Amino acid sequence: METIGDPQSGIELYMHCCQCLQEKPENQSPQEWVQIEAGIMPDGKFRVWCKRHQKNVVTFTDSVKLADSLGMKCGNPVHHAN
Ligand SMILES: [Zn+2]
Repeated sequence: METIGDPQSGIELYMHCCQCLQEKPENQSPQEWVQIEAGIMPDGKFRVWCKRHQKNVVTFTDSVKLADSLGMKCGNPVHHAN
C-alpha cells in the first residue's frame, strides 16, 4: 500500500498561515516555522489560529461532526485550554 501524506500524522495537505509562509526563513521548513494552534470555540466552530500573527487561518463551522469523527467526547473544550 502506497503511503500518502505524513507517515506519522496521516496529513496530506497542511494548513498554514500565508503570512508565515511569506516570512519563513529559507533554512526552515513550514513545520519548524509556522506557529498555529487549533481548538473549538464557544459557538462550536473549530478554528485554526496563527499564534505569531494573532489571526485566523481557517474556521470550520461544522465542528460538532468534525469532533465526533475525531472521537472527541469532552463536553468542555475550555477544560483543555492553557
Ligand atoms: Zn502567521
